[in-house]
Amino acid sequence: MRYDVIVVGGGPAGMTTALTAKSVYPEKSVCVVKEIGDGVIPCAIPYMINTMSDPAQNVVGNKPLSDSGIQIIVDKAVALDTAADKLTLGSGRELYYDRLVLATGSNSALPPVEGIRKPGVFAIAKSLSTMSALREKAKGAKEAVILGGGFIGAEFADELAKNPETRVHIVEMMPKLLNLAFDDEYCDAVAAQLAQSGVKVHTGRRAVSIEGKEEVTAVVLDDGSSLPADIVIVGVGGRPNTELAQKAGLTLSPRGSIWVNSYMRTSVKNVFAVGDCAVKRDFFTREEVPVWLASTAAAEARIAGTNIFGIRVLRQIQGTVSAFSTKIGSVCFASAGMTCRTCEMEGFRIVTGEATAPDRHPGTLPGASLMKMKLVFADRAGALLGGQISGGPSVGELINAVSIGIQMKLNVRDLDMMQIATHPLLSASPVVHPLVSAAHNALAKLRAGRSVDR
Ligand SMILES: Cc1cc2nc3c(=O)[nH]c(=O)nc-3n(C[C@H](O)[C@H](O)[C@H](O)COP(=O)(O)OP(=O)(O)OC[C@H]3O[C@@H](n4cnc5c(N)ncnc54)[C@H](O)[C@@H]3O)c2cc1C
Repeated sequence: MRYDVIVVGGGPAGMTTALTAKSVYPEKSVCVVKEIGDGVIPCAIPYMINTMSDPAQNVVGNKPLSDSGIQIIVDKAVALDTAADKLTLGSGRELYYDRLVLATGSNSALPPVEGIRKPGVFAIAKSLSTMSALREKAKGAKEAVILGGGFIGAEFADELAKNPETRVHIVEMMPKLLNLAFDDEYCDAVAAQLAQSGVKVHTGRRAVSIEGKEEVTAVVLDDGSSLPADIVIVGVGGRPNTELAQKAGLTLSPRGSIWVNSYMRTSVKNVFAVGDCAVKRDFFTREEVPVWLASTAAAEARIAGTNIFGIRVLRQIQGTVSAFSTKIGSVCFASAGMTCRTCEMEGFRIVTGEATAPDRHPGTLPGASLMKMKLVFADRAGALLGGQISGGPSVGELINAVSIGIQMKLNVRDLDMMQIATHPLLSASPVVHPLVSAAHNALAKLRAGRSVDR
Protein backbone atom coordinates (compact mmCIF):
# COMPACT_ATOMS: atom_id res chain seq x y z
CA MET A 1 0.00 0.00 0.00
CA ARG A 2 1.26 3.48 -0.83
CA TYR A 3 0.36 6.76 0.93
CA ASP A 4 1.37 10.33 0.18
CA VAL A 5 2.13 10.86 3.87
CA ILE A 6 2.77 8.28 6.57
CA VAL A 7 3.10 9.45 10.16
CA VAL A 8 4.61 7.02 12.68
CA GLY A 9 3.22 7.67 16.18
CA GLY A 10 -0.22 8.68 17.43
CA GLY A 11 0.83 11.08 20.22
CA PRO A 12 0.25 14.87 20.14
CA ALA A 13 3.00 15.37 17.54
CA GLY A 14 1.81 12.59 15.21
CA MET A 15 -1.86 13.57 15.43
CA THR A 16 -1.15 17.27 14.87
CA THR A 17 1.13 16.57 11.89
CA ALA A 18 -1.44 14.29 10.24
CA LEU A 19 -4.32 16.74 10.82
CA THR A 20 -2.27 19.69 9.55
CA ALA A 21 -1.04 17.84 6.45
CA LYS A 22 -4.57 16.70 5.61
CA SER A 23 -5.96 20.19 6.12
CA VAL A 24 -3.25 21.93 4.03
CA TYR A 25 -3.18 19.20 1.34
CA PRO A 26 -6.71 17.69 1.36
CA GLU A 27 -6.07 15.79 -1.87
CA LYS A 28 -3.20 13.79 -0.33
CA SER A 29 -3.63 10.41 1.35
CA VAL A 30 -2.46 10.48 4.97
CA CYS A 31 -1.96 7.45 7.23
CA VAL A 32 -1.04 7.28 10.94
CA VAL A 33 0.70 4.13 12.17
CA LYS A 34 0.31 3.88 15.94
CA GLU A 35 1.69 1.15 18.10
CA ILE A 36 -0.71 1.57 21.03
CA GLY A 37 -4.45 1.27 20.52
CA ASP A 38 -5.23 2.52 24.04
CA GLY A 39 -3.04 5.64 23.99
CA VAL A 40 -3.78 8.35 26.54
CA ILE A 41 -3.39 12.13 26.68
CA PRO A 42 0.13 12.23 28.16
CA CYS A 43 -0.21 15.54 30.01
CA ALA A 44 -3.26 14.25 31.93
CA ILE A 45 -1.57 10.99 33.04
CA PRO A 46 -1.04 12.13 36.68
CA TYR A 47 -4.78 12.82 36.97
CA MET A 48 -5.62 9.20 36.06
CA ILE A 49 -4.52 8.29 39.60
CA ASN A 50 -7.19 10.13 41.54
CA THR A 51 -8.88 13.10 39.88
CA MET A 52 -10.50 10.99 37.13
CA SER A 53 -13.15 8.60 38.38
CA ASP A 54 -12.12 6.13 35.66
CA PRO A 55 -8.66 6.16 34.01
CA ALA A 56 -10.34 5.32 30.67
CA GLN A 57 -11.58 8.94 30.68
CA ASN A 58 -8.06 9.83 29.49
CA VAL A 59 -8.02 7.65 26.39
CA VAL A 60 -7.25 9.46 23.13
CA GLY A 61 -9.87 8.65 20.56
CA ASN A 62 -9.17 8.32 16.84
CA LYS A 63 -12.23 10.36 15.87
CA PRO A 64 -10.43 13.61 14.94
CA LEU A 65 -8.21 11.59 12.58
CA SER A 66 -10.90 9.39 11.04
CA ASP A 67 -13.33 12.34 10.69
CA SER A 68 -10.65 14.08 8.62
CA GLY A 69 -10.24 11.12 6.30
CA ILE A 70 -6.93 9.98 7.77
CA GLN A 71 -6.25 6.24 7.68
CA ILE A 72 -5.24 4.69 11.05
CA ILE A 73 -3.21 1.49 11.35
CA VAL A 74 -2.61 0.09 14.84
CA ASP A 75 0.74 -1.66 14.50
CA LYS A 76 4.37 -1.04 15.32
CA ALA A 77 6.70 0.28 12.62
CA VAL A 78 9.74 -1.99 12.92
CA ALA A 79 11.93 -1.13 9.93
CA LEU A 80 12.49 1.83 7.66
CA ASP A 81 14.19 1.63 4.27
CA THR A 82 14.74 5.22 3.17
CA ALA A 83 16.22 4.20 -0.19
CA ALA A 84 13.02 2.33 -1.11
CA ASP A 85 10.66 4.73 0.81
CA LYS A 86 9.35 1.65 2.60
CA LEU A 87 8.09 1.15 6.14
CA THR A 88 7.71 -2.37 7.51
CA LEU A 89 5.23 -3.06 10.30
CA GLY A 90 5.38 -5.66 13.08
CA SER A 91 2.69 -7.69 11.29
CA GLY A 92 4.98 -7.93 8.26
CA ARG A 93 2.87 -5.51 6.23
CA GLU A 94 4.85 -3.16 3.97
CA LEU A 95 3.83 0.44 3.36
CA TYR A 96 5.33 2.88 0.85
CA TYR A 97 5.38 6.64 1.22
CA ASP A 98 6.09 9.85 -0.58
CA ARG A 99 6.73 11.66 2.72
CA LEU A 100 7.36 10.04 6.11
CA VAL A 101 7.07 11.73 9.49
CA LEU A 102 8.62 10.14 12.57
CA ALA A 103 6.66 11.16 15.68
CA THR A 104 7.82 8.28 17.85
CA GLY A 105 7.98 10.37 21.03
CA SER A 106 9.86 9.49 24.18
CA ASN A 107 9.85 6.83 26.87
CA SER A 108 10.49 7.28 30.58
CA ALA A 109 14.15 7.17 31.45
CA LEU A 110 15.18 4.70 34.16
CA PRO A 111 17.94 5.97 36.45
CA PRO A 112 20.84 3.60 37.22
CA VAL A 113 19.49 2.62 40.64
CA GLU A 114 19.93 -0.93 41.91
CA GLY A 115 16.56 -2.74 41.97
CA ILE A 116 14.88 -0.30 39.56
CA ARG A 117 13.10 -3.18 37.78
CA LYS A 118 11.58 -4.72 40.92
CA PRO A 119 7.82 -5.35 40.98
CA GLY A 120 6.14 -2.32 42.50
CA VAL A 121 8.39 0.14 40.67
CA PHE A 122 6.48 1.96 37.90
CA ALA A 123 7.97 4.03 35.12
CA ILE A 124 5.38 6.45 33.74
CA ALA A 125 4.04 5.05 30.47
CA LYS A 126 1.66 6.59 27.95
CA SER A 127 -0.75 3.63 27.95
CA LEU A 128 -4.06 2.93 29.66
CA SER A 129 -3.06 -0.57 30.77
CA THR A 130 0.16 0.48 32.55
CA MET A 131 -1.41 3.50 34.19
CA SER A 132 -4.45 1.51 35.31
CA ALA A 133 -2.09 -1.01 36.97
CA LEU A 134 -0.25 1.90 38.65
CA ARG A 135 -3.55 3.34 39.87
CA GLU A 136 -4.60 -0.02 41.37
CA LYS A 137 -1.28 -0.43 43.16
CA ALA A 138 -1.32 3.20 44.37
CA LYS A 139 -4.82 2.80 45.80
CA GLY A 140 -3.70 0.35 48.49
CA ALA A 141 -0.28 1.92 49.06
CA LYS A 142 0.58 3.16 52.54
CA GLU A 143 4.02 4.46 51.50
CA ALA A 144 4.77 5.93 48.08
CA VAL A 145 8.15 7.19 46.90
CA ILE A 146 8.49 9.29 43.75
CA LEU A 147 11.89 9.54 42.12
CA GLY A 148 12.25 12.90 40.38
CA GLY A 149 11.04 16.32 41.46
CA GLY A 150 10.31 17.93 38.13
CA PHE A 151 6.75 18.94 37.27
CA ILE A 152 5.72 15.33 36.56
CA GLY A 153 6.99 14.10 39.94
CA ALA A 154 5.35 17.04 41.71
CA GLU A 155 2.02 16.41 39.92
CA PHE A 156 2.10 12.71 40.85
CA ALA A 157 2.92 13.57 44.48
CA ASP A 158 0.02 15.99 44.60
CA GLU A 159 -2.34 13.34 43.21
CA LEU A 160 -1.15 10.54 45.50
CA ALA A 161 -1.40 12.82 48.53
CA LYS A 162 -5.14 13.15 47.88
CA ASN A 163 -5.42 9.67 49.39
CA PRO A 164 -5.15 10.28 53.17
CA GLU A 165 -3.98 6.65 53.66
CA THR A 166 -0.82 7.21 51.59
CA ARG A 167 2.35 8.83 52.91
CA VAL A 168 4.19 10.37 49.94
CA HIS A 169 7.88 11.18 49.51
CA ILE A 170 9.64 12.88 46.60
CA VAL A 171 13.36 12.35 46.09
CA GLU A 172 15.11 14.96 43.92
CA MET A 173 18.87 15.24 43.44
CA MET A 174 18.80 18.97 42.56
CA PRO A 175 18.63 21.51 45.40
CA LYS A 176 15.02 22.46 44.58
CA LEU A 177 11.91 20.93 43.04
CA LEU A 178 11.26 22.16 39.46
CA ASN A 179 14.78 23.52 39.61
CA LEU A 180 15.19 24.43 35.93
CA ALA A 181 11.72 25.84 35.29
CA PHE A 182 11.60 28.30 38.19
CA ASP A 183 13.69 30.48 40.45
CA ASP A 184 13.99 29.65 44.14
CA GLU A 185 10.97 31.59 45.42
CA TYR A 186 8.60 29.75 43.04
CA CYS A 187 10.29 26.37 43.68
CA ASP A 188 9.84 26.99 47.41
CA ALA A 189 6.16 27.83 46.88
CA VAL A 190 5.68 24.49 45.05
CA ALA A 191 7.41 22.65 47.94
CA ALA A 192 5.23 24.53 50.45
CA GLN A 193 2.05 23.44 48.64
CA LEU A 194 3.20 19.82 48.70
CA ALA A 195 4.22 20.07 52.36
CA GLN A 196 0.73 21.35 53.14
CA SER A 197 -0.66 18.16 51.60
CA GLY A 198 1.70 16.10 53.78
CA VAL A 199 4.27 15.27 51.07
CA LYS A 200 7.83 14.86 52.38
CA VAL A 201 10.33 16.46 50.02
CA HIS A 202 13.93 15.19 49.95
CA THR A 203 15.94 17.56 47.74
CA GLY A 204 19.69 17.28 47.20
CA ARG A 205 19.34 13.49 47.62
CA ARG A 206 19.70 10.56 45.25
CA ALA A 207 18.17 7.12 45.46
CA VAL A 208 20.94 4.52 45.41
CA SER A 209 18.96 1.28 45.72
CA ILE A 210 15.48 -0.14 45.84
CA GLU A 211 15.03 -2.90 48.42
CA GLY A 212 12.59 -5.81 48.60
CA LYS A 213 12.51 -9.51 47.68
CA GLU A 214 9.24 -10.18 45.81
CA GLU A 215 8.03 -6.57 45.86
CA VAL A 216 9.59 -3.20 46.62
CA THR A 217 9.78 -2.45 50.36
CA ALA A 218 12.10 0.57 50.66
CA VAL A 219 14.22 3.12 48.83
CA VAL A 220 17.72 3.77 50.15
CA LEU A 221 19.11 7.30 49.68
CA ASP A 222 22.70 8.44 49.24
CA ASP A 223 22.92 9.63 52.87
CA GLY A 224 22.20 6.05 54.02
CA SER A 225 18.64 6.80 55.10
CA SER A 226 15.82 4.54 53.98
CA LEU A 227 12.26 5.42 52.99
CA PRO A 228 9.67 2.63 53.36
CA ALA A 229 7.81 2.08 50.08
CA ASP A 230 5.13 -0.19 48.69
CA ILE A 231 5.11 1.69 45.41
CA VAL A 232 7.87 3.63 43.64
CA ILE A 233 7.06 5.92 40.73
CA VAL A 234 9.88 6.95 38.43
CA GLY A 235 9.52 10.41 36.91
CA VAL A 236 13.10 11.43 36.21
CA GLY A 237 12.59 12.53 32.62
CA GLY A 238 12.37 11.09 29.16
CA ARG A 239 14.52 9.44 26.56
CA PRO A 240 13.75 10.11 22.88
CA ASN A 241 12.52 7.02 21.07
CA THR A 242 14.88 6.90 18.10
CA GLU A 243 15.25 3.16 17.52
CA LEU A 244 13.60 3.17 14.08
CA ALA A 245 15.51 6.26 12.93
CA GLN A 246 18.79 4.96 14.23
CA LYS A 247 18.43 1.60 12.51
CA ALA A 248 17.56 3.42 9.27
CA GLY A 249 20.81 5.39 9.51
CA LEU A 250 19.30 8.85 10.11
CA THR A 251 21.62 11.38 11.72
CA LEU A 252 21.19 11.79 15.48
CA SER A 253 22.03 14.84 17.60
CA PRO A 254 24.80 14.78 20.22
CA ARG A 255 22.20 14.04 22.93
CA GLY A 256 20.71 11.18 20.87
CA SER A 257 17.58 12.79 19.38
CA ILE A 258 16.75 12.69 15.68
CA TRP A 259 18.56 15.59 14.02
CA VAL A 260 16.23 17.99 12.13
CA ASN A 261 16.59 21.39 10.47
CA SER A 262 14.26 24.38 11.02
CA TYR A 263 11.61 22.71 8.84
CA MET A 264 11.70 19.45 10.80
CA ARG A 265 13.48 17.67 7.94
CA THR A 266 15.84 14.88 8.96
CA SER A 267 19.09 14.03 7.19
CA VAL A 268 16.92 12.27 4.56
CA LYS A 269 15.00 14.86 2.55
CA ASN A 270 11.54 13.23 2.44
CA VAL A 271 11.66 12.06 6.07
CA PHE A 272 10.63 14.46 8.84
CA ALA A 273 10.74 14.14 12.63
CA VAL A 274 8.62 16.03 15.16
CA GLY A 275 7.91 16.06 18.88
CA ASP A 276 9.86 14.38 21.65
CA CYS A 277 11.95 12.22 19.28
CA ALA A 278 13.32 15.25 17.39
CA VAL A 279 16.18 17.44 18.58
CA LYS A 280 15.18 20.40 20.79
CA ARG A 281 17.13 23.64 20.72
CA ASP A 282 16.82 26.50 23.17
CA PHE A 283 15.12 29.62 21.78
CA PHE A 284 17.88 31.96 22.98
CA THR A 285 21.09 29.93 22.86
CA ARG A 286 20.23 27.44 20.08
CA GLU A 287 21.98 24.84 22.24
CA GLU A 288 20.43 21.39 22.34
CA VAL A 289 18.26 21.08 25.46
CA PRO A 290 16.48 18.13 27.11
CA VAL A 291 13.03 19.78 27.07
CA TRP A 292 10.06 17.65 26.06
CA LEU A 293 6.71 19.43 26.03
CA ALA A 294 3.49 18.89 24.13
CA SER A 295 3.35 22.61 23.31
CA THR A 296 6.67 22.43 21.45
CA ALA A 297 5.71 19.10 19.84
CA ALA A 298 2.45 20.54 18.46
CA ALA A 299 4.19 23.65 17.07
CA GLU A 300 6.80 21.49 15.32
CA ALA A 301 4.03 19.26 13.97
CA ARG A 302 2.23 22.22 12.42
CA ILE A 303 5.48 23.32 10.73
CA ALA A 304 6.11 19.82 9.36
CA GLY A 305 2.50 19.32 8.25
CA THR A 306 2.41 22.68 6.47
CA ASN A 307 5.80 22.38 4.77
CA ILE A 308 5.67 18.69 3.94
CA PHE A 309 5.23 19.16 0.17
CA GLY A 310 7.37 22.29 -0.14
CA ILE A 311 8.38 25.06 2.21
CA ARG A 312 5.51 27.54 2.63
CA VAL A 313 6.22 28.97 6.07
CA LEU A 314 9.73 30.17 6.76
CA ARG A 315 11.75 29.33 9.88
CA GLN A 316 8.96 29.30 12.43
CA ILE A 317 10.65 26.89 14.81
CA GLN A 318 13.36 29.00 16.35
CA GLY A 319 13.82 26.78 19.37
CA THR A 320 11.73 25.91 22.38
CA VAL A 321 10.62 28.59 24.84
CA SER A 322 9.72 25.82 27.32
CA ALA A 323 6.29 27.28 28.07
CA PHE A 324 4.36 25.23 30.58
CA SER A 325 1.99 25.44 33.50
CA THR A 326 0.91 23.20 36.34
CA LYS A 327 -1.24 23.17 39.46
CA ILE A 328 0.14 21.93 42.76
CA GLY A 329 -2.18 21.97 45.75
CA SER A 330 -4.37 25.02 45.38
CA VAL A 331 -1.87 27.15 43.47
CA CYS A 332 -1.14 27.31 39.73
CA PHE A 333 2.43 27.83 38.56
CA ALA A 334 3.67 28.67 35.08
CA SER A 335 6.91 29.50 33.40
CA ALA A 336 8.18 30.41 29.92
CA GLY A 337 11.63 31.24 28.62
CA MET A 338 14.60 31.87 30.87
CA THR A 339 14.72 32.20 34.64
CA CYS A 340 17.37 34.07 36.65
CA ARG A 341 18.92 30.67 37.32
CA THR A 342 19.19 29.67 33.64
CA CYS A 343 20.39 33.20 32.74
CA GLU A 344 23.19 32.85 35.28
CA MET A 345 24.08 29.41 33.95
CA GLU A 346 24.20 30.73 30.37
CA GLY A 347 25.87 34.06 31.21
CA PHE A 348 23.01 36.43 30.29
CA ARG A 349 23.07 39.92 31.89
CA ILE A 350 19.56 40.70 33.06
CA VAL A 351 17.18 42.96 34.86
CA THR A 352 14.03 41.61 36.49
CA GLY A 353 10.64 43.11 37.23
CA GLU A 354 8.20 41.80 39.81
CA ALA A 355 4.57 42.46 40.64
CA THR A 356 1.85 41.05 42.85
CA ALA A 357 -1.88 41.74 42.57
CA PRO A 358 -5.20 39.99 43.15
CA ASP A 359 -6.53 38.32 40.01
CA ARG A 360 -9.96 39.97 40.45
CA HIS A 361 -10.76 43.59 41.15
CA PRO A 362 -11.55 44.33 43.84
CA GLY A 363 -9.62 41.47 45.42
CA THR A 364 -12.50 40.97 47.83
CA LEU A 365 -14.57 39.35 45.05
CA PRO A 366 -15.31 35.64 45.48
CA GLY A 367 -12.73 33.40 43.82
CA ALA A 368 -9.95 36.01 43.96
CA SER A 369 -6.40 34.81 44.57
CA LEU A 370 -3.09 36.57 44.70
CA MET A 371 -1.12 36.52 41.46
CA LYS A 372 2.63 36.89 41.53
CA MET A 373 4.72 37.56 38.43
CA LYS A 374 8.39 37.87 37.69
CA LEU A 375 9.67 38.93 34.27
CA VAL A 376 13.27 38.63 33.14
CA PHE A 377 14.68 41.04 30.54
CA ALA A 378 18.06 41.44 28.83
CA ASP A 379 19.72 44.37 30.59
CA ARG A 380 20.55 46.65 27.61
CA ALA A 381 18.09 45.74 24.86
CA GLY A 382 15.33 45.17 27.39
CA ALA A 383 14.25 42.10 25.39
CA LEU A 384 11.84 39.82 27.21
CA LEU A 385 13.70 36.62 28.10
CA GLY A 386 11.24 34.87 30.39
CA GLY A 387 8.48 34.97 32.95
CA GLN A 388 7.24 33.05 35.96
CA ILE A 389 3.77 33.32 37.47
CA SER A 390 1.88 31.81 40.39
CA GLY A 391 -1.73 32.30 41.44
CA GLY A 392 -5.20 31.18 40.35
CA PRO A 393 -6.29 29.40 37.15
CA SER A 394 -5.80 32.51 34.96
CA VAL A 395 -2.04 31.85 35.29
CA GLY A 396 -2.50 29.04 32.75
CA GLU A 397 -3.41 31.48 29.98
CA LEU A 398 -1.43 34.52 31.15
CA ILE A 399 1.81 32.56 30.66
CA ASN A 400 0.82 32.25 27.00
CA ALA A 401 0.92 36.05 26.72
CA VAL A 402 4.47 35.91 28.10
CA SER A 403 5.35 33.05 25.74
CA ILE A 404 4.03 34.97 22.72
CA GLY A 405 5.90 38.07 23.93
CA ILE A 406 9.15 36.10 23.98
CA GLN A 407 8.54 34.58 20.54
CA MET A 408 7.60 38.00 19.09
CA LYS A 409 10.75 39.48 20.68
CA LEU A 410 8.85 42.14 22.66
CA ASN A 411 10.87 44.37 24.95
CA VAL A 412 10.21 45.95 28.32
CA ARG A 413 8.72 49.13 26.80
CA ASP A 414 6.31 47.15 24.60
CA LEU A 415 4.96 45.43 27.71
CA ASP A 416 4.91 48.63 29.78
CA MET A 417 2.63 50.23 27.19
CA MET A 418 0.56 47.14 26.40
CA GLN A 419 -3.24 47.31 26.11
CA ILE A 420 -4.78 44.44 28.03
CA ALA A 421 -8.39 43.45 28.52
CA THR A 422 -9.54 43.36 32.14
CA HIS A 423 -12.79 42.57 33.90
CA PRO A 424 -13.54 42.54 37.66
CA LEU A 425 -14.70 38.90 37.63
CA LEU A 426 -11.98 37.68 35.30
CA SER A 427 -8.70 39.49 35.79
CA ALA A 428 -6.47 41.79 37.80
CA SER A 429 -7.19 45.50 37.75
CA PRO A 430 -5.82 47.48 34.77
CA VAL A 431 -4.20 49.79 37.33
CA VAL A 432 -2.01 47.06 38.80
CA HIS A 433 -2.08 44.30 36.18
CA PRO A 434 0.99 42.13 36.99
CA LEU A 435 2.12 41.76 33.37
CA VAL A 436 2.35 45.53 32.89
CA SER A 437 3.41 46.28 36.47
CA ALA A 438 6.29 43.79 36.37
CA ALA A 439 7.53 45.39 33.13
CA HIS A 440 7.14 48.84 34.70
CA ASN A 441 9.13 47.69 37.72
CA ALA A 442 11.98 46.48 35.47
CA LEU A 443 11.90 49.71 33.48
CA ALA A 444 12.14 51.74 36.69
CA LYS A 445 15.28 49.80 37.59
CA LEU A 446 16.73 50.44 34.14
CA ARG A 447 15.92 54.19 34.41
CA ALA A 448 17.51 54.38 37.82
CA GLY A 449 20.66 52.94 36.31
CA ARG A 450 20.32 49.70 38.22
CA SER A 451 20.73 48.08 34.89
CA VAL A 452 21.77 44.64 35.99
CA ASP A 453 20.30 42.39 38.61
CA ARG A 454 23.08 40.02 37.80
C1 LIG B 1 3.05 12.49 32.93
C2 LIG B 1 3.33 13.51 31.89
C3 LIG B 1 2.77 14.78 31.99
C4 LIG B 1 3.05 15.75 31.03
N1 LIG B 1 2.47 16.98 31.15
C5 LIG B 1 2.70 17.91 30.20
C6 LIG B 1 2.08 19.19 30.25
O1 LIG B 1 1.29 19.47 31.18
N2 LIG B 1 2.33 20.08 29.28
C7 LIG B 1 3.17 19.79 28.23
O2 LIG B 1 3.36 20.63 27.34
N3 LIG B 1 3.80 18.59 28.14
C8 LIG B 1 3.58 17.65 29.10
N4 LIG B 1 4.18 16.42 29.01
C9 LIG B 1 5.09 16.14 27.86
C10 LIG B 1 4.27 15.72 26.67
O3 LIG B 1 3.41 14.70 27.04
C11 LIG B 1 5.16 15.26 25.53
O4 LIG B 1 6.02 16.30 25.18
C12 LIG B 1 4.31 14.85 24.34
O5 LIG B 1 3.58 13.70 24.66
C13 LIG B 1 5.16 14.60 23.11
O6 LIG B 1 4.34 14.15 22.08
P1 LIG B 1 4.90 13.17 20.96
O7 LIG B 1 3.76 12.88 20.05
O8 LIG B 1 6.16 13.70 20.40
O9 LIG B 1 5.34 11.84 21.72
P2 LIG B 1 4.52 10.75 22.54
O10 LIG B 1 3.42 11.38 23.30
O11 LIG B 1 5.55 9.97 23.27
O12 LIG B 1 3.85 9.84 21.42
C14 LIG B 1 4.60 9.00 20.59
C15 LIG B 1 3.73 7.86 20.14
O13 LIG B 1 4.42 7.12 19.14
C16 LIG B 1 4.18 5.75 19.35
N5 LIG B 1 5.29 5.01 18.73
C17 LIG B 1 6.58 5.02 19.09
N6 LIG B 1 7.30 4.22 18.30
C18 LIG B 1 6.44 3.68 17.40
C19 LIG B 1 6.58 2.77 16.33
N7 LIG B 1 7.78 2.25 16.01
N8 LIG B 1 5.47 2.42 15.63
C20 LIG B 1 4.26 2.96 15.94
N9 LIG B 1 4.06 3.83 16.95
C21 LIG B 1 5.15 4.19 17.67
C22 LIG B 1 4.16 5.61 20.87
O14 LIG B 1 3.50 4.44 21.26
C23 LIG B 1 3.40 6.88 21.25
O15 LIG B 1 2.02 6.67 21.30
C24 LIG B 1 3.93 15.43 29.95
C25 LIG B 1 4.49 14.15 29.84
C26 LIG B 1 4.17 13.20 30.79
C27 LIG B 1 4.79 11.82 30.65
